[in-house]
Amino acid sequence: MTRGTTSSSTRTKIRTERSRSRSCPSTFPRRRLTGEGQRCRRGQRTTQNPVHNAAIQDWMCEPHILARTGQSVYDHQARTVASYLNLMWRDDELPWMPVLQGWTCEDYVRHVDMYAAMGIDLTVEPLVGLGSVCRRQNTKEAVRIVEALHGLGIRLHGFGVKATGLRQVHHLLYTSDSMAWSYSARRSAPLPGCTHKTCSNCLRYALIWRTRLLNSLPE
Ligand SMILES: [Zn+2]
Repeated sequence: MTRGTTSSSTRTKIRTERSRSRSCPSTFPRRRLTGEGQRCRRGQRTTQNPVHNAAIQDWMCEPHILARTGQSVYDHQARTVASYLNLMWRDDELPWMPVLQGWTCEDYVRHVDMYAAMGIDLTVEPLVGLGSVCRRQNTKEAVRIVEALHGLGIRLHGFGVKATGLRQVHHLLYTSDSMAWSYSARRSAPLPGCTHKTCSNCLRYALIWRTRLLNSLPE
C-alpha cells in the first residue's frame, strides 16, 4: 500500500500444478528479459494490461516449511527462479511478479544474484514480492532484509504486512497487501448504506480502512 496510489495490489497467486510444470527449455528467450526488452515490458504492464501483477509460485523458506520439503533455502530459491522462468516461457506478456525468498538477509541478496544469473534484472521490475517475512515482520532481521533490498533499488511488494510492520518499513516498500480489513469486516456489521451481509468484499470498507491505516503511519 503506497501513499497516493489509488489501486491496491492484490496478491494473485498463480499456482501451477507441479505435475504439469515443465523445466525451462534451453531456447528460453532470455533477450526478452534483459535490457531494453525488460524495460519495455515494464512499461506495457502499467499502461495496457488490466492485470496489475500476478505473483509467481514461490517457495517459502521458513524452517518449518523446509522441514516439510527436506530441501535447503538454496533449493527453494532455485525453484522460485525456475517458477518465474517457466511462467515467462509460457506467456511473457503477463505481468508476472518475481518473488524473493530466503531466511537471512544474505540469502535474499544471493537470490537477487540468482535471478541476475538467469538474465533477470530485478531492479527494472515494476514490483518484486518479498516472501517469508510476513510472520516475522517485527523482527530486526526482517527490517534489515527490507533495508538491504530497497538499497539495491528493488521496488518491493510486502505480502500480508500488518500495521505494526508497516510502521517500521512502509517508507521502504513500494506496495503491500493485507487481508486484515476483510477479516475485520467479516466480524462487523456492514457499513451504513451497504446492503450486503458483511463488508468482507466491499471496496468502500477497504478504502476507508486504507485511508485510516495510511493516516496512522509516521511520516
Ligand atoms: Zn460494504
